[in-house]
Amino acid sequence: MRIILLGSPGAGKGTQAKFLCEHYCIPQISTGDMLRAAVQANSPLGQQVQAIMASGALVPDEVIIKLVKQRILEQDCQQGFLLDGFPRTLPQAQALMDAGISLDAVIEIRVADEIIIQRLSGRRVHLTSGRVYHQDFHPSRIPGRDDETGEPLIQRIDDQADTVRHRLDVYHQQTTPLLKFYADLAAEQVAASPQFFSIDGNQAVEQVRATLLQLLGD
Ligand code: ADP
Ligand code: ADP
Repeated sequence: MRIILLGSPGAGKGTQAKFLCEHYCIPQISTGDMLRAAVQANSPLGQQVQAIMASGALVPDEVIIKLVKQRILEQDCQQGFLLDGFPRTLPQAQALMDAGISLDAVIEIRVADEIIIQRLSGRRVHLTSGRVYHQDFHPSRIPGRDDETGEPLIQRIDDQADTVRHRLDVYHQQTTPLLKFYADLAAEQVAASPQFFSIDGNQAVEQVRATLLQLLGD
């Protein structure tokens, strides 16, 4: 199974990715998590992208395309993978196609901007695993601690309200054109085209999960 999850920042991609990856036994390729790990490690890549990420802008296409292409070549991706946060621009989507990487399904999770602000202000993350919580909607068992490791959760600096608004603008300008790109591709009904679905993400986590599993099939 090769899946792309699309949707604005805070739509619930990471949350649902964890379920789907466990269900289909495929790795989650979250470009955001990969970049945050690089920043944490203070690697050359991390140093290059730190300020860009903090501002809510996108990292240059060539940097991210190289990172994803390398990741997909790894052994654990042979049976499939889920892309969370990539592609985010038309050149990124085109690069996937040009590399001959076929896909089964592209799914948009739709959530209104007003709800996004609420979701991201309460988001807490476990940096090492990428597990995501929400103070009110999806709390960890012990406040401020990851359920599996007990390690502290953090609030991302790009989840502050002003930066979130900027990220939403960036999403509307640079990423929403991908919805038409994949819808058109699916409509061509060529054998290799992925299916395209758009689902309502303004439902409870469990409900969104059930809808996804229903669409993708067991
Ligand atoms: P969210 O899902 O909340 O939007 P991510 O964790 O996916 O956030 O991304 C955080 C930041 O990492 C983005 O704002 C951007 O700076 C960078 N980033 C992640 N994925 C990409 C990508 N595919 N292209 C460019 N920048 C990216
Ligand atoms: P994305 O990866 O698309 O940026 P996340 O999965 O990190 O989004 O979710 C953003 C925030 O919203 C997190 O705090 C998460 O716990 C919460 N969340 C995710 N899905 C839902 C939902 N269906 N209802 C309410 N809150 C949700």
